[in-house]
Amino acid sequence: MSWLRSARTSAGDLVDVELAGGLIAQVLPAAGTAALGEGDEDLDGQVLLPSFAEPHAHLDKALTASRAPNPAGDLLGAIAAMQGIAGTLTRADIAARAERALRIHLALGTTAVRTHVNVGGPVGLRPLEALIDVRERWRGLVDLQLVALVSVPLSGQPGKDLRQALKEGADIAGGAPHLDPEPGRAVGICLDAAGDAGVPLDLHTDETLNPALLTLETMTDLVIRTGFAHPVTASHCVSLGVQDAPTQQRVAEAVARAKIAVVALPQTNLYLQGRDRPAATPRGLTAVAALRAAGATVAAGGDNLRDAFHPVGRGDALEVAALMVTCGHIAPEAALASVTAGPRAALGLPPVAIAPGAPADLVAMPAADALEALGAAPAQRTVWRAGRVVARTTVHSRVASPQQLEGAAP
Ligand SMILES: [Zn+2]
Repeated sequence: MSWLRSARTSAGDLVDVELAGGLIAQVLPAAGTAALGEGDEDLDGQVLLPSFAEPHAHLDKALTASRAPNPAGDLLGAIAAMQGIAGTLTRADIAARAERALRIHLALGTTAVRTHVNVGGPVGLRPLEALIDVRERWRGLVDLQLVALVSVPLSGQPGKDLRQALKEGADIAGGAPHLDPEPGRAVGICLDAAGDAGVPLDLHTDETLNPALLTLETMTDLVIRTGFAHPVTASHCVSLGVQDAPTQQRVAEAVARAKIAVVALPQTNLYLQGRDRPAATPRGLTAVAALRAAGATVAAGGDNLRDAFHPVGRGDALEVAALMVTCGHIAPEAALASVTAGPRAALGLPPVAIAPGAPADLVAMPAADALEALGAAPAQRTVWRAGRVVARTTVHSRVASPQQLEGAAP
């Protein structure tokens, strides 16, 4: 049992928060005068938020940008760059980079990560084996979910690879049906594999600006028609963003009815998509507004962390949320929800609020309010997982004031 004193909620209230048994036990107006007991923290007005959840990473590829350059900067260039280093992707190399990426995420306040893991082809099962080890090692610190990402055609060996990966310990069925010669059939193959294994489905969906490819609609039809019993996530859904408004609304309403969560991935899709259109370059983003208006679960993720698919990025959920404000045109509060409540729902995790009974998975940072936390994304953060401090970053910055400029260093 411990107290977080003088924490600021996103509503701006100053509160004392009691943690017990990994949960928030009570939230009271800040007493101000309470003495700190052992294990208590004085947050001194820092903003306290639910910790972040990353709904779509590629930890097996993370932090390879220098090893696998992608001069074309597009999707095919990225795939070719990764194939070029496939031979160097040993289990030890994959595990080491994945753990480095997890440390980056955890330090910045992310306590749950769903990662897609390449299965089959030149890397075989090495990435999955490495990530299963990492998942087990990090249990209790970061919830790590593994999606088996197989190639195409799903009617051939990749479809068998998918079933094999789910037997070997992958948590979720994945794939990229929009790349398949028979996209609609590929969706069905992935759905059947997930259903037979009794696991959720998370597909790379329509990662293209080609409006003729809309497998999201096939997915919603199949999920509704078959009464698919497990959680379903559609990642990317870029082509939905280039449909006309009535189509966006129709598909978004079907997505909401099918209870499919949609993951927007602004960093990678703003980077990869639209390079062949130098004038009025389209944004590679899904139809965020239509999906939200329809009541669908919308989450936002970082996707690629400094690899051939996106060579920059800090692994910070607040960087993703800021892009949802700037490029996705949603309000800051909704952008914060897209990296907290949205992905937690998509990942099947219990919701977190600064309220009694919620899991004590939290992040605090110095900011006057939630909007400043989102805008400034301070590096200084404290992170709790199940009520225990699991990361603490402190920053010292010294800046000269004008009267010091003559002769006095900061
Ligand atoms: Zn991806």
